[in-house]
This record gives sequence, C-alpha cells and structure tokens, in this order.
Amino acid sequence: MVDKDDFASQRERMVQNQIAGRGIRDERVLEAMRSIPRHAFVPREYRHLAYADGPLPIGAGQTISQPYIVALMAELLGLQGDEKVLEVGTGSGYQAAVLSCLARQVHTIERLASLAEQAERTLQALKIDNVQVHLGDGTLGLIEYAPYRGIVVSAGAPSAPRAMLDQLEDGGALVIPVGKRSGQVLERWQREGDQFKHEDILTVAFVPLVGQAGWKE
Ligand code: SAM
Repeated sequence: MVDKDDFASQRERMVQNQIAGRGIRDERVLEAMRSIPRHAFVPREYRHLAYADGPLPIGAGQTISQPYIVALMAELLGLQGDEKVLEVGTGSGYQAAVLSCLARQVHTIERLASLAEQAERTLQALKIDNVQVHLGDGTLGLIEYAPYRGIVVSAGAPSAPRAMLDQLEDGGALVIPVGKRSGQVLERWQREGDQFKHEDILTVAFVPLVGQAGWKE
C-alpha cells in the first residue's frame, strides 16, 4: 500500500478537517482515508484538487464522491475486518479501495465498461488485491456472491431495492441514497432476521442509479 507520497500532507489535512473534523470517529475508517491515495483515482487534469472537499468528474458524466461522504458511508457499515461487502457504482474505484482496508473481500459492480476497466487498472497498480470489479447492472445487487455483511450504493436510487435487502446477512447493513434523480436522503437499512428497519442520515446529491430497479437511462 502507498503510504508516503507527494500528497501525504494534503491527505492528512483532508482527514483532520473534512473527515475527523465532521465527526467520523471510527479509527479504522480514518486510517483507510489516510492510506488510500485519492489522487490516483482522479483524472490527471483534476489531480491538484484530489483532496478538496467535494466530488470531481471522472469521465462518462460520472463523479468520484466527496471524501467525507465516502468515509461516512464506510463508517455506517460498521465493519470489523472479516466481512464480505458489495459496492454498487464502482466509478473510479476509490470507495472500493477504502472498503478494501475495512473488510476481507469487496465486490464492486459498475454498469459502464470504460469506468470499470479504469478502476480495475488503478486498483491493480496500487496492489489492492481483495477487490473484485464486476461489469453490469447492480440495481439487483450481485446474487452470485451474496450474502453480504454490508452493501453500499454509490448512486441515487428511487427506493431501496428489495433484491439488495434480501442479499444482506442477518445483522447486515445497506447504505443507499434514496430520493429524486437530483437529490436524495442517505438511508441506512439494517436486517434483523426477516425484518428491515431504516434510518435517515443526511441529504446528499448523487448521480442516478440507472437500471432495472433504478432510474431509466
Ligand atoms: N464510488 C465511486 C467512486 O469512488 O469513484 C463513485 C461512484 S459515482 C458517484 C456513481 C457510479 O454508479 C457511476 O460510475 C455510475 O456509472 C454507476 N452506476 C449507476 N447505475 C448503476 C448500476 N445500475 N449498476 C452499477 N453501477 C451503476
């Protein structure tokens, strides 16, 4: 894993000001945000902004999420280190890389081939070997590797898809932005046997989750 690089001091400031400063307390999440080089996931022309407090374009009309939101979604999964998790919406691969520090195995699915291929190249270059990138529509989860301890959806959905809830382990959590195409509420769902309870966390603005149980193209 990359630990020291030209951006290390910017990354440390990002963790202090944007992540810990806004209330993220899970030490493992803070350490993951400290160790994953976000600039490696950002197109060259935006690299100088890699540790700024916002999303950035990654091509194909998509974005890498704001660092704080990545950390918050990871913390909401409550991982200990031995879990299998799913991310829907690989994008640049950054959120998956952060999750790779927190779980045993990460599956991530992206519907756009150009992004899935680039994310795979970046993860390989960083020698992150517990993330598997899949190409396809993730609105129905990824049944082949279910159940998951955690599922994080990195795009805004009209509602929490039943198929994803069904792919949670007992006690597992789904973190998903739900609402309109243009703005959503981040929801955390928890499975308890056959029951699902959910809480609203905060308002967010993600690109749309497009597919069978999502929005139309
Ligand atoms: N987590 C990403 C990162 O760290 O860079 C950011 C993800 S970006 C905000 C949302 C991604 O979800 C886009 O790359 C988009 O193509 C993808 N997406 C949208 N609908 C999808 C679907 N049905 N299945 C898989 N990926 C989808």
